[in-house]
Amino acid sequence: MKRKGILSIVRTNPQFITIENLNIKGMMRSKRLANSFQQIGLGNIVDWFKIKCQDYGIELRQVDRFYPSSQICSDCGHTQPMPLNQRTYHCHHCGMIKDRDINASINLKQATDYTVIV
Ligand SMILES: [Zn+2]
Repeated sequence: MKRKGILSIVRTNPQFITIENLNIKGMMRSKRLANSFQQIGLGNIVDWFKIKCQDYGIELRQVDRFYPSSQICSDCGHTQPMPLNQRTYHCHHCGMIKDRDINASINLKQATDYTVIV
């Protein structure tokens, strides 16, 4: 995500934005992941969100990095393992089918356990 991408989110003037507390240092130990993060500059994204949320008066929430946003069904709350290569969430409990990232985003929006960082 580029800085422009962050601005386009912030400019929709949401009540709040929830981000994950990603273990960037841990992920940097993986050579392949480290390479792609350097390309998109993920290390700066959280800082950019902080600055822009402050500018626009938006609450910035961060969920714990162990919050399993990808593994929870955003419809029924069922939890199941989601290997990284699985791009679609197909709930074994209620049958919901959603794109992995969209499902995770809905879970972040619905999260009740978070820290307000801005
Ligand atoms: Zn479900």
